[in-house]
Amino acid sequence: MELKSFECKGCGTIIWVPEEQGEPLYCPLCRSSLTEVNVKLDKEAKEYTCPECENKFSIVKPPYKCAYCNYTFPSTPYLKQDEKL
Ligand SMILES: [Zn+2]
Ligand SMILES: [Zn+2]
Repeated sequence: MELKSFECKGCGTIIWVPEEQGEPLYCPLCRSSLTEVNVKLDKEAKEYTCPECENKFSIVKPPYKCAYCNYTFPSTPYLKQDEKL
């Protein structure tokens, strides 16, 4: 699966999304707009799926909001991550 990367103009956060998915609308951390960049996937990044719009994106820091809609992720430190590692 090809990934596209986008950088936030506000805080510099990078997110990765599947190429076949539409372009993300906002930074998941600060809600600024994004520009497409060409950055390889960071191995620290984790993939999140929005339960509301079902779009996926990968980000190093836990997201505050969905990159595609207005969903707010719960800020739990207890998220399991055993599938990827
Ligand atoms: Zn940002
Ligand atoms: Zn969403």
